Amino acid sequence: MENKLKLEIVTPYGLVVSEDVDEVLCTGSEGEFGVLPGHADFVTTLKIGMLTSKKGNETKIYFVNWGYAEVGTDKITVLADSAERSEDIDVERAKAAMKRAEERLRKNAESDFNKAEAALERAATRIQVAQLKIPK
Ligand code: ATP
Repeated sequence: MENKLKLEIVTPYGLVVSEDVDEVLCTGSEGEFGVLPGHADFVTTLKIGMLTSKKGNETKIYFVNWGYAEVGTDKITVLADSAERSEDIDVERAKAAMKRAEERLRKNAESDFNKAEAALERAATRIQVAQLKIPK
C-alpha cells in the first residue's frame, strides 16, 4: 500500500515491534540512513546504536544490538541480536553490565577483550538511548 511502511524488529528473544510508521532512521554500519515508504529494496548491516521511528507526531526510540535491516517498498525488517524500546531499558542493569565490562577490560585478558568491548558498547549505548528525550 502506498505511503505505508511496516517496521518490524525481530530478535532471538522475540518480536520487539511490528507496526505501520511514516519513517525510520537506523544506525547502519556505514552511517545513519533514513527509510520512507516507497524506498528501493536493499539489505544492510547495522551496528550497535539507535533506531527511531516516526508516525504522525509520535516518535519511538529503540536500542538495537547489531543485525541486519532488510528494506522493501513498504517494509523494513530489522533482525538484531537484541533490541529494546527506550522506555523498556533498565538503566541500573546497563550500569551494572558496564561495570562488569570495564572490570574485564582492566584485567586485559586478551581472549575476552572483544567481548568485553562489545558489552561495554551495548551498555553505554543503552544508557544513552534510555536518557534521550523524545521530541514532542
Ligand atoms: P546483560 O549483561 O545485562 O544481560 P547484555 O548486553 O549481555 O546485558 P543482551 O545479550 O544484549 O544483554 O540481551 C539479552 C536480553 O536482555 C535481551 O532480551 C535484551 O533485550 C535484554 N536486556 C539486556 N540488557 C537490558 C537492559 N539494560 N534493559 C532491558 N533489557 C535488557
